[in-house]
Amino acid sequence: MLAKPSSDLSLTMLNQAEKKERAQFILNWLSEKYPDPKAPLDHEDAFTFLVAVALSAQTTDARVNLVTPALFREANTPKKMASLGAPRILHHIKTCGLAPTKAKNLEKMSKILCEKFGGIVPDNFEDLESLPGVGHKTASVVMSQVFNVPAFPVDTHVFRIAKRWKLSRGRSVEETEADLKALFQKELWSKVSLQIIFYGREFCTARGCDGHACPICSQLNGTQAPRARSRPVKQKNSPRKTGTPSR
Ligand code: SF4
Repeated sequence: MLAKPSSDLSLTMLNQAEKKERAQFILNWLSEKYPDPKAPLDHEDAFTFLVAVALSAQTTDARVNLVTPALFREANTPKKMASLGAPRILHHIKTCGLAPTKAKNLEKMSKILCEKFGGIVPDNFEDLESLPGVGHKTASVVMSQVFNVPAFPVDTHVFRIAKRWKLSRGRSVEETEADLKALFQKELWSKVSLQIIFYGREFCTARGCDGHACPICSQLNGTQAPRARSRPVKQKNSPRKTGTPSR
């Protein structure tokens, strides 16, 4: 009988080769279930995508997509957003979590984009993370989705599921990100992150689980023998024998 993955599985140590094997199985399964995952935030360009991702913290993507059309009608450039000002931004985004803080950050971020970056969203982590309200996860999403730079955004779903699936024992987002980067081919990082997020929303929610419901766990943990996938997703050099997490 399967024990609760969120508790009992975390007690079991796996070596890197075993984690790689699990990761390949998970990748094959996710790639059949979500073959072409797309970032679910509506946007027009790099700036509106950055705004949407910043708004999505503590807020569902569906909620963000409800508020951004009216916001972007008034302000779809850094200059217009800076001119709009925090109170008017707040009017548009008030149903999002942490709305007052986000409104202030969006005004400040837009001003900095105008004054320091010529109104252009920067294409590197350092400059992105220097913007108010833009943390490493937001920067990772923008870098991967807008600039096609390999990144592995770790949100609450990815952090939770990496533990439940025994891919990481990371105690921080940074540790989990490093563990996952070491398990999946670089070119797949962004796609796998989205696939895990979609799986987390559909099956592996924060509410916990009985350890039986989902195909991935039932096969990984032995209630069913892992079955070969019809079209395995290839990862170069997999499985690796050692696993120094790469950043
Ligand atoms: S995938 Fe399903 S069975 Fe596995 S930890 Fe998540 S909810 Fe539980």
